[in-house]
Amino acid sequence: MSTTSDSDNFPFVPLSEPCLQGNEWSYVKECLDSGWISSVGSFVSRFESDVARYTGAEFAVATVNGTAALHTALLVAGVEPGDEVLVSTLTFIATANAVRYAGAHPVLIDSEPRYWQMDPALVSEFLNQKCVWRDGELINRATGRRVRAILPVHVLGHPADLAAIRAEAARFELRVVEDAAESLGASYQGRRVGAGADIACFSFNGNKTITCGGGGMLVTDSAQVAERARYLTTQAKDDPVEYIHHEVGFNYRLTNVLAALGVAQLEQLDKYVQGRRRIAAYYQQRLEPLGLRWHSEAPDARSTCWLSTAIVDPERVGMTAVQLRDLLAQKKIQTRRLWQPMHLSPAHRGCESMLSGVADRLFQMALSFPSTPSLETATLDRICTAVERILPTAARRVA
Ligand SMILES: *Cc1c(COP(=O)(O)O)cnc(C)c1O
Repeated sequence: MSTTSDSDNFPFVPLSEPCLQGNEWSYVKECLDSGWISSVGSFVSRFESDVARYTGAEFAVATVNGTAALHTALLVAGVEPGDEVLVSTLTFIATANAVRYAGAHPVLIDSEPRYWQMDPALVSEFLNQKCVWRDGELINRATGRRVRAILPVHVLGHPADLAAIRAEAARFELRVVEDAAESLGASYQGRRVGAGADIACFSFNGNKTITCGGGGMLVTDSAQVAERARYLTTQAKDDPVEYIHHEVGFNYRLTNVLAALGVAQLEQLDKYVQGRRRIAAYYQQRLEPLGLRWHSEAPDARSTCWLSTAIVDPERVGMTAVQLRDLLAQKKIQTRRLWQPMHLSPAHRGCESMLSGVADRLFQMALSFPSTPSLETATLDRICTAVERILPTAARRVA
């Protein structure tokens, strides 16, 4: 046996890295050359119309990040202080935080076990069994608060079961705000995520499928929603010349320099999605025989496979997700567990919840693997070989 580790000669493989091989430089240069670098400029409106066209939504409003898009969307959806909003408990914390920014209370909904998205059965159970109509408003009996909206997250690039969620929302007169931060480029029942949404929000943070460094976008089919979102994100300015404001607005607009990056990135989105899907398929084929189980895709969905994620069940593979993560880190391969579910987060302690144990299990067992779309097959092979060498050893140890 060789005494030097086989990882010594290999570079570190991060979980996900931005790819900037398109027109990024030339569009940003165009921006700088023109002097239009702030929140007014042609790239902002171009990025908005490009995202609208890409998703199939009528309108798009660019924001400074995805969290700001979510906050704005909730306000535009009519969420008021003291209201309740149903939110996926398995999500990045920004989703639940946005509800708090609006002064509202998250009601945390667990995931369904197959695709890990907001469980429509639990949504239904909450609305039917825990709420009553009072003076034309839907009230949570336990808290006495008005229930106003549902905020499903398209987790890991896979669409939530929108048909079921929209049906419940229609029955209970709730707005649906979709957190599609991880899912630009995904499709649901033949349409892109964002198409036909009340409101859907995207993120262009550095680790997302396309990035502006930081940025967000809200899309909708409603002209009023778009107009109100534009107003709130530009300091609620009421006069084109004078500083007249009738409301407290926000400085949430994306700058032209960052929008220039976004326009260039969007041109390459389909390539990135293909790349991420290729990576997920590769891992699945190589590593499922070892007992890892990959995040699967619903028959009516097309996932972007944003972060390629597997269940590491110690009963099947002989070690925990944390152990596997730490051993892969020694081989300079970065993997990461999913988010601590919101019902366990100290930041959102005490929220009402509808739990089934699925998010808890995913928190314990799910592990995301390197998913940068430009990863070469040789690197994927190196990652899978590392896992193959680690796992059977572990299996023997427990046997
Ligand atoms: C990234 C992300 C956000 C936040 O987007 P930012 O652009 O970082 O503010 C919100 N929700 C989910 C599910 C995310 O993954």
